[in-house]
Formats: sequence, C-alpha cells, structure tokens
Amino acid sequence: MQITKDKVVSIDYTLTDPQGRVLDSSEGRQPLSYLQGTGSIIPGLERELEGRSAGERLQVTIEPADAYGERDERLVQAIPREAFGGIDNIQVGMQFQAQSPTGQRAIVRVVDVADDEITVDANHPLAGVALTFDVTVRDVRDATAEELAHGHVHGPDGHAHG
Ligand code: ZN
Repeated sequence: MQITKDKVVSIDYTLTDPQGRVLDSSEGRQPLSYLQGTGSIIPGLERELEGRSAGERLQVTIEPADAYGERDERLVQAIPREAFGGIDNIQVGMQFQAQSPTGQRAIVRVVDVADDEITVDANHPLAGVALTFDVTVRDVRDATAEELAHGHVHGPDGHAHG
C-alpha cells in the first residue's frame, strides 16, 4: 500500500541538523504514526513520503521553508525586566509562554539577560535549520472513519482519548 492522503503511516526516523547532531529519533520508542495529508508532520517530510510504501528507507534534507520556517529577527525582542515580575533568577535558555497582542500564544526563549532588559526569541528553535531525516516506513494502512473524522491517529501508537 502506498502513502497517499488519509493513510495512517508509521515511521522510524532519526532527525539530524547540518552539523550531524541528532535532534530527535524514534529509536528505542514506538514508531511515529501520523495521518498523511493533514499537516501533522512538517510539510517537506510529508511530501517526500507521499507515494512510498512499507519497507522503504529514505534520507532527505528538508530546507527550513518546508520545515519550521525561516528565522524572523523581528521575533527577537528586548522586554523590560519588570514584565517578568515575580520571577527571580532569569537565565539564558529559560522558556516562557507569551501571548501576543493578537492573542496568539508562543513559547519564547531567553537569549540574553541584562540588568534592566531580558531579550527573548519567539522563533521556533528549529527555524532556519535544514533538517535531515533518515526514515524507514514501517507500516501504511487505511485510516478508520473515526480517525478521519478526528484528523489524527488512534490506537496504541497514536492518540489516546481520555
Ligand atoms: Zn481522536
């Protein structure tokens, strides 16, 4: 069975950055299961997997535009320390949930700490990074009607409902 829209796909994968560092891997875990054509994995990888079958292995490098996007330097902002009222000992690398004026929530990372200002970066940590995936397709099956209605995978390796 080939990977096409609305198939449930299970993959083993290892994700590395351009320096060859492993960023994520399914090794030692269940394969990742997702519903093809729903945007639940990055667009570039979904496109590369289209038409593949169980047992196929591929190594692909996905450019940032088809992964987590390019970096946007406007998302790096200095914020008065008072805005972090009540939080002591703010350090580079800490993460906070922030809300934009339009109500969108984002995770921001502290990238610089000065006496009166904290600089945060709201870019996705992998924005601007070309991602290399080493993928083995483990299984391809039809989605159930319920999975299609929900837009995600059910079952032992998928989404569990409480
Ligand atoms: Zn569901």
